[in-house]
Formats: sequence, C-alpha cells, structure tokens
Amino acid sequence: MHFTRRHLLCGCAATALTGCVGAGGGKPIAAGYAPALDSVEGGLWEIFNKAEADLKFSPLRMTDEELNRYVTDIACRLAGSHCPDMRGYLVRTPFFNASMAPNGMMQVWSGLLLRCQNEAQLAAVLGHEIGHYLKRHSLQRFEQMRDNATIAAFLGIAVAAAGGGALANLPGLVALANIFAFSREQEREADGVGLELMVNAGYSPIEASEIWRGLIQERDAGLTADERADRKDKSDVFFASHPAPEDRAQTLALQAAAYPGGKRIVGEERYLAQARAFRDMMMQDELRLHQHDRTLVIVDRMKAANPGDADPFYYEGEVYRSRNEGLDDGLAMRAYSRAIEADDDHGLAWRGIGILHRRAGREADAATAFQRYLELVPDASDRLMIQSYVGA
Ligand SMILES: [Zn+2]
Repeated sequence: MHFTRRHLLCGCAATALTGCVGAGGGKPIAAGYAPALDSVEGGLWEIFNKAEADLKFSPLRMTDEELNRYVTDIACRLAGSHCPDMRGYLVRTPFFNASMAPNGMMQVWSGLLLRCQNEAQLAAVLGHEIGHYLKRHSLQRFEQMRDNATIAAFLGIAVAAAGGGALANLPGLVALANIFAFSREQEREADGVGLELMVNAGYSPIEASEIWRGLIQERDAGLTADERADRKDKSDVFFASHPAPEDRAQTLALQAAAYPGGKRIVGEERYLAQARAFRDMMMQDELRLHQHDRTLVIVDRMKAANPGDADPFYYEGEVYRSRNEGLDDGLAMRAYSRAIEADDDHGLAWRGIGILHRRAGREADAATAFQRYLELVPDASDRLMIQSYVGA
C-alpha cells in the first residue's frame, strides 16, 4: 500500500482523538526494524524516505569517500547491530547541527565537524542522534501533535522538504533538520543513550560535555556581562530547539563521571588526520558568517586540541585580517608568523603575510612573501592575481 499525505493526516487525527501518547514512542527499536506501510509510523518513514532521496543529490552534500567512511565507521561502532538501519549524510553548512529522522537518515553538518576537537566529541554527537533513533523520539513527537493544524503545519514543512530540490539550500535543510523539536526529556534521554554507546565503544564520555562547553564559550564570545545575562540565542538553529547548554554540559559531566575510569579513546590526532583536508573549506565558510569573536573561540579550541598544529594560527590570522579593525592587522601578522614558526612551509600563512605587507604599502616584503606562497602552492587558484601583485 502506498501511504499518502492524506492517509497520514487521517490516521493521526484519529489517534490524536483517542489519545495516542506513548504508542510506540520511546520504546526501543529492534535491529532491522521497518514499520508496516499502512501504519502511522510507516507513513512518517515514507515522507523521510522521499526527503532522503532528495538529500542524496543535494549539491551541499560532502561526498568525499574517505571522510564519509570515517564518520560511518564511528557511527557503526556506536550503533552496533543497528548500524545497517542508519545512513549518515555530511552536509556543507557552516552551523553546528546534526539531526536524525525517524527512518534512520542522519545529517551531520560541516559546522559541527569544524567544531569537534577530537573523535570522541564527534562520537558523542553521533551517539546522541542514534539515541533519538533507538528511542523513536520522532514518532513520539508526531503522536503528541494533538490538533490537525499542528499536524498540517508539520506535514507542510515535511512534504516541502521532501521534494523539489528544497534540500539544495539552507532554509530547506534547517526546516528538515529541526522538524521535530524534541522535548527536554527526549534530549536528556538521547544524551544518556549517547553516553552509554560512547563508553561501550571505548570513548571517553567526558568529551560529550566538552562540546557544550565550547558552544557556551562561542555563544558568550564578545558579549558584555549584561548581554550575557540577556542572551536568547534566537539566531542559533541548534540552541533554538534544545535545552539550555549549561544544564546539558553539567548533566553530561556528572553522568560521565559515574562511569568507571580507565584508558579511553579521545582521538585528537585521528580526528585531525581526517578533518584537516576539509578545514580550509569549512573555515572559509565560517569566516563568511562574520562572527569573528565566535570564530576565535573555535580557533582557540583547535589550538588546545593539537598544540603543534600550524593551521589554527593561520586561521587566527585569517579572522583578524578579515575583521580588519583597529589593531587587527598587527594581530593577524603575529598569528601568521606563529603559523610559520610551527611550519615554515605553510604556504597560505605566507600568502596572508604578503597581503598584510601589501596593504601597508611594503611592496618588497609583500613580493618576498608572495613568491614563497607561489613556490609552496604551485597550483594556487589565485596564482594569476598574486603574480600580478609581484609583477612576475
Ligand atoms: Zn537531540
């Protein structure tokens, strides 16, 4: 039987009248589970199967095989026998977000990959999302929609997102990712499941709360004390639908401490080895948001995770150079220089130094730095422009 939008509307309106709370929601799901097509749950899955078919061809999808395999392997270690039931999609969108649809379609956004300091933090997010799936939270939310107007609004978003290329742009992706505003209880439950999956897979559970600490730092970056007291985070797609990050960080830390100690995986280097190839792109996307204070928090956390890494200093230089206020050029020069100290062959840092010199009218210094850049990055996409600067 083919499940149509109308069937689903009727089905749920009927259950809503008779009270459908708890019917299936929150109950663990068996490995290999698929709902009957003529059930409410089957209809819900069908909508997201369509959305998934669209997402597969979104131009924002990051399709690099190695990176996808890396994330999938972590998800599978966490999900165990449920691994074949879920499919992860990496999406190039510069915000911290991950989401799980009822049919096992998981989205992980590049803004999240940029912010993870290590493999355990990524595992924490994946574990949390897997928790939503295992506990069937979307179905629970759907069944809690009491009136036809709410259901119709939900279906309007879902069906719009499920076809017509809506997932090629950010509003469509945001609508789909946040379609179920999970309750605080559900978020807590998913956090708890996520921690357990992390520990079972050998990861250090304290890293789950560390992610939230980073997000709190970002949220408060550059704010005065008054502004901090008044913060509402209306603009943040992730905070909008989730409980207060302070509560989560604290609860997760307490729960993590309850697990026995011992040697557990954090995986800073493993994570860096995979993320490095994409960080320049993700950082350029981040810089385009012009939220420089927040971006500096991300950069500081990168430095803390891998102290010998030259890239975070280069990124710091990029932040100051792009903000270009007051003493920023001096701060940018200092940061690029530290990148060069850590790695003399850091071509992009040499490029930044060249631009700063040129901006200040120091043509000879600029030419030297640009030459170094062109030697180190022979296939630079801006080669012609840089050559015109140095008169080569
Ligand atoms: Zn959640």
